[in-house]
Amino acid sequence: MDEEIQREALSAALEAIAERIEAEKGHLTDLDSAIGDADHGANMHRGFQAALEQADRDADPDAFVKGVGMALVSKVGGASGPLYGGSLAHASGELAEGITAESSVAFAEAYLEKVKDRGGASVGDKTMVDALTPAVHTYRRAIEVDDLDPLTALARATDAAERGVAFTTAIRASKGRASYLGWRSVGHPDPGATSTLYLLEEIRDVAAEYLDGDLDATAREPEPEDDAGESEVDG
Ligand code: ADP
Ligand code: MG
Repeated sequence: MDEEIQREALSAALEAIAERIEAEKGHLTDLDSAIGDADHGANMHRGFQAALEQADRDADPDAFVKGVGMALVSKVGGASGPLYGGSLAHASGELAEGITAESSVAFAEAYLEKVKDRGGASVGDKTMVDALTPAVHTYRRAIEVDDLDPLTALARATDAAERGVAFTTAIRASKGRASYLGWRSVGHPDPGATSTLYLLEEIRDVAAEYLDGDLDATAREPEPEDDAGESEVDG
């Protein structure tokens, strides 16, 4: 994907995400009022509006994503601000050579690791980690093991995040504000896992518009029929 298109796609993704967060602001706030302090919608909205204003649309992909992360760090606030923003800023370094199937996997992994590192949450604590972990693992497997194109991989990752949100509904919170509720947190989806799903859905849809299955065409050429299914799988 050429550099100009990468820039356009990233700007389009930011705009789509900001618009989605605006549309879901009330819903995210409702989710957070059930098990938190009713500010997740407002926090995310404030952050993405700032990111829209501050984004440098001529920047390289890594600098662009880093700028978005910094805007989120400074404006989202709450527990989610440093998690979303700091992790994006950190992971942006993986895009220094541009966006390819390979760098997108490294980016996703670095983002997940940073969220876990900063927040100290693991799968099962009822946080954004529960949406993010299956999404990132599914994405990596789709690209590296199943040799799928990035659009299919993103679609699968988003489906995995959706199941992760459903999982958060069924479990008790052990991290973040919702943990104060103990068993009363069961039965409510986690707000941060839900907003993570929205981000992924928007990224998936914008990627579909811009990539047409061609993020890293040379690395993704279909294998000859005979070799199909024989690629090595290590782990
Ligand atoms: P706050 O909880 O400070 O009001 P927000 O309402 O903006 O901040 O964000 C709440 C979301 O942040 C939660 O739904 C959860 O997904 C996420 N979160 C909170 N604490 C952690 C943590 N330690 N690790 C990962 N995610 C967390
Ligand atoms: Mg909150």
